[in-house]
Amino acid sequence: MSAVKVQKRLFGTNGVRGVTGRDMTPALAMKIGMALGSMRKGRIAVGRDTRTSGPALSSAVKAGLLACGCDVTDVGVLPTPALQYIIKNHFDGGAMITASHNPPEYNGVKVIDADGTEMGDEDTLLLEDRIFDETFEVQDWRNVGTETSAPHMVEEYIDAIVSAFPEGIGNGITVVADPGSGPACLTTPVILRKLGCTVHTINGQPDGTFPGRLPEPSPEGLYGLSELVKACSASFGIAHDGDADRAVFVDENGEFVEENSEFALVQRFMCRKGDGLVVTPVSTSMKAEDVAKETGCEIVYTPVGSIYVAREMIRLKKEGKDVLFGGEGNGGLIYPDFQFCRDGGMSGATMVALLADADKPLSELIESLPGRVMIREKLYTTDFEAVLSAVKKAFAEDDLDLTDGIRINRENMWALLRPSGTEPFMRLFVEAASEPEARPFTDEIIGVIKGITS
Ligand code: MG
Repeated sequence: MSAVKVQKRLFGTNGVRGVTGRDMTPALAMKIGMALGSMRKGRIAVGRDTRTSGPALSSAVKAGLLACGCDVTDVGVLPTPALQYIIKNHFDGGAMITASHNPPEYNGVKVIDADGTEMGDEDTLLLEDRIFDETFEVQDWRNVGTETSAPHMVEEYIDAIVSAFPEGIGNGITVVADPGSGPACLTTPVILRKLGCTVHTINGQPDGTFPGRLPEPSPEGLYGLSELVKACSASFGIAHDGDADRAVFVDENGEFVEENSEFALVQRFMCRKGDGLVVTPVSTSMKAEDVAKETGCEIVYTPVGSIYVAREMIRLKKEGKDVLFGGEGNGGLIYPDFQFCRDGGMSGATMVALLADADKPLSELIESLPGRVMIREKLYTTDFEAVLSAVKKAFAEDDLDLTDGIRINRENMWALLRPSGTEPFMRLFVEAASEPEARPFTDEIIGVIKGITS
């Protein structure tokens, strides 16, 4: 394992986020712009999702970048993976104004490096130092940057995805897309149509008040999508989070596809040639292990967070390894032949290719996956260290993996206990073949924790 998790002051796993006007202000956004502009010279692309606070915060980030001498290209509203793709091909870095899956009152900034990945921990710590110490390299009138606007660049992302698949691969496939009024309104329906699909949309108009559903594509919010899939006899429905790096699906019966099943199904498709590596965090379902065995692939585990997955994939690829697929069991899937970041648009296109290749509907394909049950608990405590060391001691005889928190591996089941990055609780995941097997294991762990916190 190469990646080690670092606690940051301002940035979480995927950028800075907060309630607009309270934690996430234009003043902070400008400081982020100035810090980034002091660290990264050259051409910087700035994009945003559809949130109402996007124009104000984007303007502030741009002001900071320009003041520090960067030439800024405003690429407007687009999904995070579209910005990442454009940056990888044309820019020296970038900033995405988004709060991803958070509710409408939130907004934030994701900083993107020249290779299209989110900025790594080491540089993010330096960026934070600059923000807190206010060490900005503000330029004089001869050296401030210039600004251009390029809203059309999103088309490059759309065309690149479409050209990665055979022409007309979606012919005869009906899809319902729910971009949730986010930036994928401009991309996913277009991609699917260009692949040949018949596409219907719901929540298909960009709207930062998110009138149809919240940016988190939870099963409860996707009732309209499910109904429309059934009414249109569609093959599947796709929904995105607020910046469309994640995609989730409903099958032809309108049933939500659990994200770990989504991961395993797409993994099976991506690994059909076998003999490669799949990279995913220690929190991902054993379904991934099962499918890896079936397809002759091997799983490489990382700490929880897409950036750790992406960077491990890049590292392995540089070592000459055949990295076929990666991502998280939350709908954030990474396609290494295209780019090293979670990509909701690519997931939509890949689902079309997967179904075009299959002789079964999506519900049956999901059914063909190994059955697993995952219990998820939240344990409220702030004494993370004491809990972790007690659990480590109590389960010392087990096979322990300390990549992120503590993962206890047992025959045909596992448990993961890890602190929340931002809140006063720990997450416990326990997975086994069935609930009666998972429950006693869960109780055993909770018993140890209760013993020290009570
Ligand atoms: Mg997201």
